[in-house]
Amino acid sequence: KKINIAIDGPAAAGKSTIAKKVAAALNMVYVDTGAMYRAITLAYLKSDDKDFSTLLEQIDIRLVADHGQRVLLSGEDITERIRENDITENVSFVASQAAVRSYLVELQQQLTRDKGVVMDGRDIGTTVIPDAELKIYMIASVEERAQRRQLDNESRGIDSTVEQLKADIAHRDHLDMTREISPLTQAADAIEIDTTGRSIEEVTAIILKLASD
Ligand code: C5P
Repeated sequence: KKINIAIDGPAAAGKSTIAKKVAAALNMVYVDTGAMYRAITLAYLKSDDKDFSTLLEQIDIRLVADHGQRVLLSGEDITERIRENDITENVSFVASQAAVRSYLVELQQQLTRDKGVVMDGRDIGTTVIPDAELKIYMIASVEERAQRRQLDNESRGIDSTVEQLKADIAHRDHLDMTREISPLTQAADAIEIDTTGRSIEEVTAIILKLASD
């Protein structure tokens, strides 16, 4: 039976790490919607024309499933590039644009047509797949999220400090929770999981159990 799993929550709560594991275990496709907003942000920063509608008409974003997800912009693999600070700093602004959201929500909904997906983001359970069979709202303390992101950044060679990451994460959450169109909020029927102090394996097992019920 085809089911969809929606995983939402604030920045760096562990969504993509867990979603990838859950998808692999269930042999489902993993879709990282944050990467799609990040890809448009890169295109926006590169473009001289700052009109979003024009930008979206010209853009060529492709997703390739590969033990996770690779993102191509006009054929170029930008999977690593979109994790850098300039993208993270600008992505919430780009994601607040009505034209950008309607473009990506449509694309994300298309991805659910043929197969069940594990999709992570901010508005998956509320807007993109409101009828998802399983909805998770993943949270963790700001301290722990900043520490995890710091380790992640170190492994990617991205400069940061835990203090700066705490401020950045809180700021991005604030923007995502207060924007006009589909702000980050917990769907009424989502199950909240606090990942603070829990291992990746533990959280993955909780979700696999829920998915099998
Ligand atoms: O998940 P990630 O941190 O990569 O997401 C980057 C940004 O993209 C978020 O801070 C948010 O502004 C935006 N986003 C969104 N809706 C989604 C996924 C991400 O607005 N479904």
